[in-house]
Amino acid sequence: MTDQAPIVIVGTGLSGYSLVREFRKLDKDTPIVMVTADDGVSYSKPMLSTGFTKDKDAEGLTQAGTDAMAEQLGVDVRTYTTVTGIDVNNHELVLGDQRLVYSKLVLAWGADVIRLGLAGDGLDRVHSINDLMDYRAFRKALEGGKRVVIMGAGLIGCEFANDLRNGGYEVDVIAPDSAVMPSLLPEAAARAVQHELTELGARFHLGTVVDRVDQGTSGVRVTLANGEILEADLVVSAVGLRPRTELAKASGIAVGKGIVVNRALETSAADVYALGDCAEVDGQVLLYVLPLMASARALAKTLTGERTNVRYGTMPIMVKTPCCPTAVCPPPPGTDGSWQVEQDGSDVKALFTSPAGDVLGFAVTGRFAVEKQALAKVVPPIHHD
Ligand SMILES: Cc1cc2nc3c(=O)[nH]c(=O)nc-3n(C[C@H](O)[C@H](O)[C@H](O)COP(=O)(O)OP(=O)(O)OC[C@H]3O[C@@H](n4cnc5c(N)ncnc54)[C@H](O)[C@@H]3O)c2cc1C
Repeated sequence: MTDQAPIVIVGTGLSGYSLVREFRKLDKDTPIVMVTADDGVSYSKPMLSTGFTKDKDAEGLTQAGTDAMAEQLGVDVRTYTTVTGIDVNNHELVLGDQRLVYSKLVLAWGADVIRLGLAGDGLDRVHSINDLMDYRAFRKALEGGKRVVIMGAGLIGCEFANDLRNGGYEVDVIAPDSAVMPSLLPEAAARAVQHELTELGARFHLGTVVDRVDQGTSGVRVTLANGEILEADLVVSAVGLRPRTELAKASGIAVGKGIVVNRALETSAADVYALGDCAEVDGQVLLYVLPLMASARALAKTLTGERTNVRYGTMPIMVKTPCCPTAVCPPPPGTDGSWQVEQDGSDVKALFTSPAGDVLGFAVTGRFAVEKQALAKVVPPIHHD
């Protein structure tokens, strides 16, 4: 009976829509239902941290409306519909008091922002930006404002710092680490990005955290653990993301850091698959576009009956800080080796080499950033077969 049921995909982010695009290249007819908690509008999430630089608001960043996507892809999209459970034994998705039978189920429901338990009465001015609806709310809240405090100096915090400076805003960045993007960049490259962002006018407060956010005379008063007080119009929280695993776990599907899948993107439950920010693929959680695109191509084939393993190639990450163009291809965690750094001011070329001299990762900034493609050809792929 479930064979006649549609393929159901939860999520209309880049993972969900990329998967359907790939699937429709192979199969025009099988019914597909997409379920999403949001408005289903198609957009490119990486562009959210380029709005001011590219002079685009939330409307400008919209690529296609939900109806257009549904028509173009031949799918039924159920918007503002939140999945509340999965009945894996009966092949049913639970949507509050309704149920939706699936033949195959794909979880593409992304990652949640980490929210810090801050004190204060100004928390309604703290914005996390993880989708287009968040971005719309953020831009509206920023109207008439000039000063933004960013919590977090990871990739997203640094990108927003650059973008907001390009938009003419005052920017203070607060983070507990001693360098920006500590989990991504070797120190020399991190210093270069921080230096250029500082030259652009961003102010960094590293080695401390935000303690509380209170209402101010206009906007908010942000108190740091080091005693500093900053006045701002609003706060952007960019302190990290966590794959959404709770509903999967509650339905008995194996989870680790993400929803555990093998290279065929199969979860521990029959006919249930996962890809994108929510998935832990063969032990790796990679919250980037290239891995989800590779996954979408492989899973599309599997869903048409040709079981296919995803193959991750070399996956460089471009950091969208135009004041200091940066690309990085981190070595696999725990790899034996060391960084070799060539530096001329903010132009850094750092190569991670094994004891045998093989290049296993790189980070390039400034004028060396143009070498990213050539270097990506030297670094071995994540998956060899
Ligand atoms: C500001 C920013 C900049 C970035 N820049 C880059 C970059 O330059 N390069 C790069 O490679 N990556 C970048 N990333 C990461 C990249 O954008 C993500 O890896 C990717 O967009 C994740 O897509 P996804 O479809 O897996 O998840 P999402 O886009 O989060 O989609 C999740 C979907 O699931 C739905 N959903 C969630 N829970 C439920 C539920 N219970 N019921 C129903 N629906 C649900 C949501 O409504 C949504 O439709 C950036 C991310 C951000 C935030």
